[in-house]
Amino acid sequence: MSDSYPELIRLLKRAHVLGTVSGLLGWDEQVFLPPDSTDLRAEQLALLAELDHEASADPAIGRLLTELETPAGLASLDPAARVVVREARRDYDRVTRLPPAFVAEKARLSSAAYHAWADARAKSDFAAFAPFLQQHLDLARREAELLGWGDRPYDYAIDQHDPGMDAARIAALFTELKAGLLPLVREIAASPVRANPALLRGFPVADQLVFLREVTAALGFDYRRGRIDVSLHPFCSGPGADIRMTTRFDPDSPLDSLFGSIHETGHGLYEQGLPLDHQGTPLGENAGMAVHESQSRLWENQVARGRAFWRHFEPRFRALFPGPLAGVSSDDLYLAINAVEPTLIRVESDEIHYNLHILLRFDLERRLFSGELAVADLPAAWNALSKELLGLTPANNREGVLQDVHWSGGAFGYFPSYCLGNMMAAQLWDRVRQNIPALQEDFGRGDFSRLLAWLRTHIHAQGRRFDARALVREVTGNELSPQPLLAYLRERYQPLYGSIVKESGARIQ
Ligand code: ZN
Repeated sequence: MSDSYPELIRLLKRAHVLGTVSGLLGWDEQVFLPPDSTDLRAEQLALLAELDHEASADPAIGRLLTELETPAGLASLDPAARVVVREARRDYDRVTRLPPAFVAEKARLSSAAYHAWADARAKSDFAAFAPFLQQHLDLARREAELLGWGDRPYDYAIDQHDPGMDAARIAALFTELKAGLLPLVREIAASPVRANPALLRGFPVADQLVFLREVTAALGFDYRRGRIDVSLHPFCSGPGADIRMTTRFDPDSPLDSLFGSIHETGHGLYEQGLPLDHQGTPLGENAGMAVHESQSRLWENQVARGRAFWRHFEPRFRALFPGPLAGVSSDDLYLAINAVEPTLIRVESDEIHYNLHILLRFDLERRLFSGELAVADLPAAWNALSKELLGLTPANNREGVLQDVHWSGGAFGYFPSYCLGNMMAAQLWDRVRQNIPALQEDFGRGDFSRLLAWLRTHIHAQGRRFDARALVREVTGNELSPQPLLAYLRERYQPLYGSIVKESGARIQ
């Protein structure tokens, strides 16, 4: 018995290391791979996926878990080790209860569906993608059945990304959020204040890279165990010991690259803050998508869109880009940073409307899984909701139901995490400002160390000890709620767009 736990850890770490090799090859594929080398890369990735699956589904892991789960086994473990056993069981069941033929079928469908989606999107032709989406829905239901969630397939999909979360809880949170969000959106829409997106043009890419590296390093990203490169779609991958982030540059949209990079840095800081000693075990792994997203959004929005952050960084920004910023006042720059405008496209959305994009997707997924909505009726349902929530109707399916990649990979139940992450970020932001009242003064000096240390202690160091809801309860003493997010959005945007501007003519924050 005494050898069982160390042996379990050894096997878990072995599987983890294999997974990180796949991750590295995947990163390389999107950043550096020569165009005609994709066939070999596909073979490499397929072989590693097979080895990874063998290592994760090793029957020895199952035997060790069964031993450690006996009363005597559990009694021999400290609380942290019990977390490892609990979470390793969850992972092991997921890996072993899906027959290899099912896994292969899902992989084949995802590959075919991805290409069908890309093609359908280019042609704005939903009917060409519909059969693939239907097959993915059927597979998702079968997968839930195999894992013992046959009566709650959508809850199973959600639980994969956010353990402990389910559709009924999310629906209640989103209903409350919507009730508070729509009046704020209407208030901003009625404001005469408008950001001017054409203001920021001609920012040389090389200097954009210099600036974003300085910013992200100041936030605390450790470039000795991570790097940032360029890819078509920005992402952050790899374990804390070796983080690979990416961004993309446009001389005429310098803020997109900067805020995208700060977002990915938030993900990277979380992974770098997970306990290194426990890497490859649940104590060194992230607590799910909502928690991950709370970290990226807190840095991107609460921190980097704030006045104090720009008090520190604006002089350097101007020094690097004197030409493009010559005619741009500080107030106009700050307004551009906090521009609010409804858009049809989720990834181009500001942080207020973004939540409405998620409410739309959640509602449709839920109805698809309940059978209330047929795949064929999805575009019409999408457009109706888009009109209701965003006030905009897509002119075609390309800017409507076909805009996101997620469903082509069968990733249902993933969208809600983005919005749950926003809620959680605001709730943590509330708490950390109570704990460290002088935080804004820190930011004004370019010092983010006390915020990072707080996140390290309260969030990062926990690994998978708590799911998202339990973690919020543990750290803030309250249940996850949309109210802190609504309060934060009002606090930030009403002074910029709201009544205070109209009355005094000055922007106050
Ligand atoms: Zn993210």
